[in-house]
Amino acid sequence: MSRFLDARYASLEAYVPGEQPQGRRYIKLNTNESPFAPAPGAAACLCEEAAGAQRLYPDPQGMGLRKKLAEAFRLKPENILLGNGSDDILHFAFMAYGGAGVAFADISYGFYKVFAALRGIEPLLLPLCEDLRMDAAAYHGLHKTICIANPNAPTGEALSLTQIEGILATNPDNVVLLDEAYVDFGAQSALPLLSRYENLLIVRTFSKSRSLAGARLGFAMAHPAVIEDLEKMRCSTNPYNVSRLSLAMGEASIEDMAYFEACRKKIMETRAYTAQRLKEMGFGMTNSLANFLFIRHPDMGGREIYEGLREKGVLVRHFDTPRLRDYNRVSVGAREEMEVFLSRLEEIIAERTGKGNA
Ligand SMILES: *Cc1c(COP(=O)(O)O)cnc(C)c1O
Repeated sequence: MSRFLDARYASLEAYVPGEQPQGRRYIKLNTNESPFAPAPGAAACLCEEAAGAQRLYPDPQGMGLRKKLAEAFRLKPENILLGNGSDDILHFAFMAYGGAGVAFADISYGFYKVFAALRGIEPLLLPLCEDLRMDAAAYHGLHKTICIANPNAPTGEALSLTQIEGILATNPDNVVLLDEAYVDFGAQSALPLLSRYENLLIVRTFSKSRSLAGARLGFAMAHPAVIEDLEKMRCSTNPYNVSRLSLAMGEASIEDMAYFEACRKKIMETRAYTAQRLKEMGFGMTNSLANFLFIRHPDMGGREIYEGLREKGVLVRHFDTPRLRDYNRVSVGAREEMEVFLSRLEEIIAERTGKGNA
């Protein structure tokens, strides 16, 4: 830290992303990326857009992509905002609506705490239940801005549409942000409620279900007045926040519904298969509707499993906090990757049992 940094940021703890290893090749199941390539049309943009067009700034309104998204979700472009990843949009929301105070689950996406700290907000943390599910009733009538990852991270547990509506209806004077980063893998989206609740802000990303984590592309869907607020934040910080290349890849991705459907179906099938195999091996897990599983073994610590896997070339995510340290979060990769993961895990358990008997 230099002596020039604003004193209010001295104790700010920045977000720590999952490891992106540069040396050894791992089977990478630690940051919930897609194992599949982006839609073929999106990949083709790399050749077309990488050339001359990069000379020019992108459309600061991103109108081409907003129109495509509006069409796909039966909305208007005025209902859509684009971000440099959905993290960008979360930041705009904390800027725009943080003044009312912010409430979110004590265990959720780690960035919420960082954005709150960055904006100088002391968040109201609502504890998850003993079984790591969200207690929807605890969010009723809070008089604060509410931020919910649905499905939640790192548990994958989701609220139902009825539970979400209860939260929207009892907080009519506050924005309820639903971070639907993982909603394409089987949970219910709040989208059908958008026409009836002007306090609903849905945030989505191309990073998980659309295989474009590297392109940094996210979007929000909300009432036009809410979008206008967020646009004000966006244009006051970085009006060219989405690159020309990412806009083009986003459009191509939205156009190819068949590819999107095939990829998410494969992830859901592989999730069910992997969960079944893990249960046979004695693992317990949350009821994840995301592209990851959150698993624990009755006889082995989470750290021990994480390190064992890492030595064998498989990266998963371990969170060293009191309620999470027995668990590991494992992204659902391609079927072949999961087979390698499962056999390494079997080896680790066998080695451990061997040691126990010796
Ligand atoms: C991955 C993730 C994000 C961030 O996505 P980007 O669009 O890549 O910034 C936001 N929220 C949750 C819950 C996530 O898991």
